[in-house]
Amino acid sequence: MLFDQQGNFKIQQLFTYPSDNYQNLKQEALKCHRCQLRKGANGVVMGEGSTDSKIMLIGEGPGANEDRLGRPFVGRAGKLMDKIFEAVNLKREDLYITNVIKCRPPGNRVPHQNEFKACVSILRAEIELIQPKVIVTLGSTATKYLLDPEESITKVRGKWFQRGDIYFLPTFHPAYLLRNEKKKKYSWYDFKLIKKAADRIKELSSSGKI
Ligand code: URA
Repeated sequence: MLFDQQGNFKIQQLFTYPSDNYQNLKQEALKCHRCQLRKGANGVVMGEGSTDSKIMLIGEGPGANEDRLGRPFVGRAGKLMDKIFEAVNLKREDLYITNVIKCRPPGNRVPHQNEFKACVSILRAEIELIQPKVIVTLGSTATKYLLDPEESITKVRGKWFQRGDIYFLPTFHPAYLLRNEKKKKYSWYDFKLIKKAADRIKELSSSGKI
């Protein structure tokens, strides 16, 4: 679990990454060889999108296409997510999209705890730098690692959880939706919540309230 109830980082920080300059953070992150995943991957897949975004979406880890192209969510799951964004009128380039783990696990297996511990400092620096108001956890792994290892995604999806100043919204991973078409209706509902939050954040920020 990355955060406690007050929104403080709970995990021991094994490494530190620049959290005051995005280009420096990215440059350092791309050099990482701190766990065994890097050996089997083409490279580190850093998050992407708007660093001014108040909404961050966090997936599990790069798949084959992401590993090949060096960008998050560009394979089939990413394309489905792009369609969902379009359907609810969210622009991908206005959001920040990243993963818990930055290197592709072999055969897309779930990342191990030691890999999470080695990689989480990059995610922590991304969060510190971007300071999102909303974090969307995509799927079970991101939800367990960030919010609660005991929670089931089916139980918590579509519900808001506050940790300090950040509001978390777990939702199904788009790769799960590719395998379970009938669950798409739930994601539709969740992404409409995200759009509503995005509109509210825009309103508050243009009136200088945040
Ligand atoms: N699945 C993820 O969790 N992340 C990606 O970037 C792609 C697929």
